[in-house]
Amino acid sequence: FFARPWVFIRGVPRMDVLPPEGPPEIAFAGRSNVGKSSLINALVGQKGLARTSNTPGRTQELNYFVPGGYSGEGADLPPIALVDMPGYGYAEAPKEQVDAWTSLVFDYLRGRSTLKRVFVLIDSRHGIKRNDADVLDLLDKAAVSYQIVLTKTDKIKPVGLPKLVAATHEAIRKRAAAFPEIVATSSEKGTGLDDLKAAITGFAAA
Ligand code: GDP
Repeated sequence: FFARPWVFIRGVPRMDVLPPEGPPEIAFAGRSNVGKSSLINALVGQKGLARTSNTPGRTQELNYFVPGGYSGEGADLPPIALVDMPGYGYAEAPKEQVDAWTSLVFDYLRGRSTLKRVFVLIDSRHGIKRNDADVLDLLDKAAVSYQIVLTKTDKIKPVGLPKLVAATHEAIRKRAAAFPEIVATSSEKGTGLDDLKAAITGFAAA
């Protein structure tokens, strides 16, 4: 299904407009500018699917993407859905916005039985920051399986990567819901995309 053209199906600003539970869902979370849109676009091979932008304060929505060609009627459901979660961590974000983010995300995480894994994207130049750790806390509390994906690895020296992976391993070692394997990616170079696709494919409906 990665070879199909993907489509955007819905932006979800509130829980009451979530699509009914259907295909297995894989969500992507990360600080704004971590490279989330670029990674989703690179995975599906479509430059314009998820918006890429540096402008903060985009609408806080869960954006649903599915492979095209399924009617959605009856049993003709897409085998997987990718959910682009709103970015977090704007320094200038007002408290109400942070609270709105937290409640939308936490409600989604806790209530979604079809959510199989959250990929938490971490910029390889910065590592896990305080607000990333807060999100990991939220995921542990919601007991949702998550996995760390390092982004923009083309921006760090190759010799630094093993050290970063080791440090990231250590940081999540005691976290209850963390999947131990860390995926190192670069959307620019295409690094790690096959590993990520394989992981996602493993969750797809037969
Ligand atoms: P988002 O806010 O998390 O969706 O981040 P974007 O995907 O919009 O990316 C933020 C910035 O990082 C953009 O300028 C991208 O071109 C850049 N970027 C994203 N992924 C990579 C990557 O793998 N390598 C490099 N060098 N730059 C990247």
